[in-house]
Amino acid sequence: MELRKDPITRSWVITGDDLPENIAQSSTECRFCGDSAHVIAVAPNTPGAPWSARAVVHPNPLYRIEGDPGRRGDGIYDRMRSLGAHEVLGENPHHDRHLWKASDEEIAQFLRLASERILDLKRDPRIKYISLFKDFGKNAGQEFSHPTSQLTATMFVPRRVLYELRAGREYFLSKERCVFCDIIQQEERQSLRVIEARGDYLAIGPYAPRVPYEAWILPRYHESSFERAGQNRAGLHLNLAALLRRTLQRVRSITEDFHLVLHTSPSSQHPSKTLGYWKTIDDDYHWHIEILPVVGSKAKSYNFKEVYYSPVSSETAVKQLREARIDG
Ligand SMILES: [Zn+2]
Ligand SMILES: [Zn+2]
Ligand SMILES: [Zn+2]
Repeated sequence: MELRKDPITRSWVITGDDLPENIAQSSTECRFCGDSAHVIAVAPNTPGAPWSARAVVHPNPLYRIEGDPGRRGDGIYDRMRSLGAHEVLGENPHHDRHLWKASDEEIAQFLRLASERILDLKRDPRIKYISLFKDFGKNAGQEFSHPTSQLTATMFVPRRVLYELRAGREYFLSKERCVFCDIIQQEERQSLRVIEARGDYLAIGPYAPRVPYEAWILPRYHESSFERAGQNRAGLHLNLAALLRRTLQRVRSITEDFHLVLHTSPSSQHPSKTLGYWKTIDDDYHWHIEILPVVGSKAKSYNFKEVYYSPVSSETAVKQLREARIDG
């Protein structure tokens, strides 16, 4: 597999003919329930559990840590080897205790582990960005039945995050304010699209959703980096854990399948001279979690000629999500 850059949109894609085998079906036993796999990091044990959240190397990684990126040109095209890291984070030792069923302490352990892994991977000077994501359900491309999230460390910043970074910088240049902080302020004032506020965190339906019932979770205070926030604020993870659990319960009252992705600041330890956004990133970027539900029957109409089409308004969606019956 290799990375190729689209010269027009400047997005990197991972491509090649090396089709990954279907891991989920290659074995009947759950590879995360036992003591298998290459454990990279483990969160401290919670009482009564064999282990807490832990990170292992992905059994069939898209990115590998060894070697040289081999960046090279081919006429107008750019390519490089898929250098980086690909890990699976076991969220919970129990096979059926997903994020929306786990205790807040268990979810907090997982969030702590995630921030430690991100901090650790950011120490590698070759790494530009670390993505944490979760695909749940058949229609979302779920890979393992065990409660897991995945993490990729790449030598480029993914397209969507790059959009956000550039937009955040432009907004900051003209207003000297963080666009996310401004969104939070207006949403809290209007209360039209607030799903729930909990401690320092807010769950909202975005003003212009890409898919029906899209939900974002953001810190109400300004902070560009999720992993740094975790280091500095005691109790942070418990409130965030509760809000994440409750928001997922709400989303799952609509549909089971969803994508979840964390957007945090790229590695700024090794500033790039060509990409100017590194300088003001702590002021103009604001970490958040995006939850993109997969509503099966309406899936076809999501993307109409590259313009997102969401047949449920955010205001209606938020009303339904707010009123969803959730426990705890
Ligand atoms: Zn399992
Ligand atoms: Zn902000
Ligand atoms: Zn985002």
